[in-house]
Amino acid sequence: MTRTFKGRVIKSTGSWYSVMDDAGKTINCRLKGLYRTKGIRATNPIAVGDIVDYSISDTDNSGLIINIHARKNYLIRKATKLSKATQIIAANIDQVVVIVSLTKPRTSTGFIDRILTTSEAYHIPAIIIFNKFDLYDKKTIVTLEFIKKAYEKEGYKCLITSVPERIRLNEFKAILQGKISLLSGHSGVGKSALINCIDSSLSLKTGEISDYHKKGIHTTTFANMFHLQFGGYVIDTPGIKEFGLVEFDKVELGQRFPEIRNLMQQCRFNNCLHLNEPGCAVIKAVSKGDIVEFRYTNYLNMLSSI
Ligand code: GDP
Ligand code: ZN
Repeated sequence: MTRTFKGRVIKSTGSWYSVMDDAGKTINCRLKGLYRTKGIRATNPIAVGDIVDYSISDTDNSGLIINIHARKNYLIRKATKLSKATQIIAANIDQVVVIVSLTKPRTSTGFIDRILTTSEAYHIPAIIIFNKFDLYDKKTIVTLEFIKKAYEKEGYKCLITSVPERIRLNEFKAILQGKISLLSGHSGVGKSALINCIDSSLSLKTGEISDYHKKGIHTTTFANMFHLQFGGYVIDTPGIKEFGLVEFDKVELGQRFPEIRNLMQQCRFNNCLHLNEPGCAVIKAVSKGDIVEFRYTNYLNMLSSI
């Protein structure tokens, strides 16, 4: 007799998949035959985050994936540098959580904005966590308030935390609870420490959550997904380069900045890049202080890299 179950893929090796059911039990599954995903030319038909139906036969304690549920979203990257085929990194992401610190190590707003523009491209909400607050001096706190206000104005939820002083860790936990969160941030900002604090069943070592800068661009590493004891999952992708894969053209970039997106209709030219064009509503807003300088500078830097 064969019975069918539903679960979530939490780990993938390319040929075997770890699938977790609602009760938190995991089972190793294979994929039935040559399963093809509609509409996507991907080298891997299943990624972490996918919801699948699987069957277990009485004679075997491994599962067979027989169906993949429609995805709410998915992150892709090129399978190899030259190929057109893509690899799905992760699926069904509810939010991107950017963990930053203004010291030891300092995260630049350029880094934050690269993540934010990517999450905008995927229409995935992003949250910024300013960690290591206990280490900030007076001047850094002034900077923090300024940056935080700028991001909140554009609709990004922000939270200030400290692991040793246990500041706002319950709020951090509430943010992750019941959701699939893609975690991002430099090595050393406290990703593992924060996660360990809110889920005692996990004891992640430093570096267990990827450093988005150091990992190779085209490694075959698959994303990791951790199940949180109190409900929810944390995904850690192998690299920011992949996460930033969405290729936008120059005109599109402005759409990824809410403050530019809101004004660009008012620019004289509809292909305005907000560089030095006459009648540009964005440049006017920057000079009036309605758009903060650092966001505009980051926009210009990203523009020149396209
Ligand atoms: P990850 O690479 O992002 O996972 O960073 P870790 O969690 O390994 O943290 C790097 C170092 O920063 C460790 O020594 C942590 O104990 C320390 N750390 C993490 N969060 C905080 C914090 O809020 N304040 C201080 N002072 N240190 C922290
Ligand atoms: Zn313009």
